[in-house]
Amino acid sequence: MTRTGCSERWAGVDVPFLPLPLQVCFIGRSNVGKSSLIRALFSLAPEVEVRVSKTPGHTKKMNFFKVGKYFTLVDMPGYGYHAPQDFVEMVEAYLQERRNLKRTFLLVDGVVGLQKTDNIAVEMLEEFGIPYVMVLTKIDRASRGVLLKNVLEIQEFVKENTQGCFPQLFLVSSVEFSGVHLLRCFVAHVTGNLPTVEAS
Ligand code: GDP
Repeated sequence: MTRTGCSERWAGVDVPFLPLPLQVCFIGRSNVGKSSLIRALFSLAPEVEVRVSKTPGHTKKMNFFKVGKYFTLVDMPGYGYHAPQDFVEMVEAYLQERRNLKRTFLLVDGVVGLQKTDNIAVEMLEEFGIPYVMVLTKIDRASRGVLLKNVLEIQEFVKENTQGCFPQLFLVSSVEFSGVHLLRCFVAHVTGNLPTVEAS
């Protein structure tokens, strides 16, 4: 196969090269607030249908949400308690094939902070060299002291143990919508959908 600007050559025939839709992926422990955050992110875009399981913390399959023609959001099953048995195989298979994955968002519960089970995701992302961002959820539920402790612990962890993690941590509450707009803009930015404003 040879690839030119707009086509690929397969067995002597030119086949048009179609760009793959970009993807972002959301991953986290079961019950971390992933479905609630995805719903909050798209609350202003009701045409994006975000299915949320009736029992919290029970998402077992990968879900793909197409956001218009702009990008696809991949919702991974939760890990830890209630994780599907084939979690590692399923996620690894996806991450190995991820040619069009622009960024992964690793959700950490703001009340309990980084847990041992979060290493499942951190190790996979580091091993496959996937760029990722940590997002602290449910910040409305954590006291300021707990939040500060968890933020500092994560910052230290990121500095000491990671290569592919973005140094800026995002803090969100899907109940109070704090931090949601900034995260929405960041998702738009990494998928090339944030129009740049010329400085005057
Ligand atoms: P998932 O398993 O990661 O998809 O988690 P869910 O989105 O189903 O949320 C798990 C539980 O946490 C539910 O009872 C939610 O109502 C609650 N929850 C999720 N996000 C927030 C948040 O930002 N603040 C608060 N106070 N509760 C939240």
